Amino acid sequence: MSNNLYDVLLPAAPERDASVVLTTETDAAWTRGDIAVLAGRIAALLRNSGVEPGDRVAVQVEKSPEAVCLYLACLKAGFVYVPLNTAYTDAELAHFLGDAEPKAFVGGSEAVPAPLAASHTETFTLGPDGRGSLIERARALAPLEGTVPRATDDLAALLYTSGTTGRAKGAMITHGNLIFTAKALEDAWEIDDADVLLHALPIFHAHGLFIALNTALLAGAAMHFLPKFTIDAVVDRLPRSTLFMGVPTFYARMVADARVDEALCKSVRLFVSGSAPLSVPAFEAFRARTGHDILERYAMTETIVITTNPLHGHRVPGTVGSALPGVTVRVIDEAGRERPRGEIGEIALQGPNVFAGYWRLPEVTAAEFTADGSFKTGDLGKMEADGRLTIVGRNKDLIITGGYNVYPGEVEAVLARLDGVADCAVIGLPHADFGEGVVAVIERRPGDESLTQAGVVEALSRELARYKLPKAVVLMDSLPRNALGKIQKNELRRTHAALLQGGSGLPASSRPSSLSEKPV
Ligand code: AMP
Repeated sequence: MSNNLYDVLLPAAPERDASVVLTTETDAAWTRGDIAVLAGRIAALLRNSGVEPGDRVAVQVEKSPEAVCLYLACLKAGFVYVPLNTAYTDAELAHFLGDAEPKAFVGGSEAVPAPLAASHTETFTLGPDGRGSLIERARALAPLEGTVPRATDDLAALLYTSGTTGRAKGAMITHGNLIFTAKALEDAWEIDDADVLLHALPIFHAHGLFIALNTALLAGAAMHFLPKFTIDAVVDRLPRSTLFMGVPTFYARMVADARVDEALCKSVRLFVSGSAPLSVPAFEAFRARTGHDILERYAMTETIVITTNPLHGHRVPGTVGSALPGVTVRVIDEAGRERPRGEIGEIALQGPNVFAGYWRLPEVTAAEFTADGSFKTGDLGKMEADGRLTIVGRNKDLIITGGYNVYPGEVEAVLARLDGVADCAVIGLPHADFGEGVVAVIERRPGDESLTQAGVVEALSRELARYKLPKAVVLMDSLPRNALGKIQKNELRRTHAALLQGGSGLPASSRPSSLSEKPV
């Protein structure tokens, strides 16, 4: 039996299915049949161009229904789909393309990326409006018949992890990983064909592609398919949606807009958040405004979804819920032994959602698994007696100051509750006496000038032990974030590297506006 994800997402003669699945921002409606037919034509074009099952197809295009068809075409024909962030420069592309060695590349414009100039890769274009050589040439062809059979552990996609350190690695995602995850989420969140998902996430990342798109397709749900998150489009579509999936920055922008209230969200039954921590105040602000408890879940590229808060029952803010059925999550020490409940360790897991390893990096892959085969996430967390997981930070973000461990998440949770704090990041910076010193970097609420270094430290000192208090506080108007809104701690560590080493060490020109960063 074939375990091709395509057959699971679009089963039984999808070419004749007239149900509308995607509605665009300009109200163009795409039926399942439209999507299946175009996916079949694109699959035929790529096959005719010499792409074979197992070959990689690298794709760096804006989000559009045609881009969805391209993704499904790759699944159908057994190619390995390699989505790339449209923000990548040629220098970054050179690494991904050199590493993945794609047989075909689909880009947003005529200009062939420099790294491909000397290669034999077939290139096609697909613009944000859905036009380009890919679609023009595919439209002339008959759709590829049938689906290329795949085994559970055959690769469906190669996703480069956001890799905050070192070179990005290609996570090998199998058909089995994706079938398991889509089914598990369909069950956990009870998604069905009565649902309408407001899809505002990028589709070059696991969140928008595997968690949102795959699950909606599998469940037969319809989607409002926005090219990107804009508050006006979201406000316009929310009253016609039942489901919304976002990152915490989406929710922050929704709460900042007076139009987002209980009446606007009346038809929505579920708001989901992930990809970065949702602070307790952010959860509470959204509840106060809309009456909704955001359901927070925990995922990563290598494992897709790991845990989720419950659909029915209490969603505990600040926690990421419990393991998906079929997934075993443990919190372990450095020797791989399980830590007692309530104590901090590294989060590790086993399950059908765990990827097949890093592309062409067997040693790196082996180092990321325990002796008994659990994948080590690099996230630190604690498991409560009832199986709920709380994340306290990344392993490499752990701060060791004067021999004491400081978990950034604990300090960030207190900071997030202070008036005037829009968002924050706690990092460790080199310190002559302590090895590392705790530094709080705060994004201020727009127009709020009330925060001071001394005030922040004084407020924290009421709740935290002395060694956890920041040795410097940096106030910024906005924190550096990646495409999914995740704060770039590496960038902060780099920019402020000399902050605790006598004097500020920063040239005036590189100071964030309204900086107050003297060590305290
Ligand atoms: P990525 O592979 O880019 O999706 O990043 C995965 C990482 O995002 C995880 O290892 C976590 O550090 C973080 N992450 C994802 N979801 C959450 C969440 N709900 N709360 C805190 N961190 C999260």
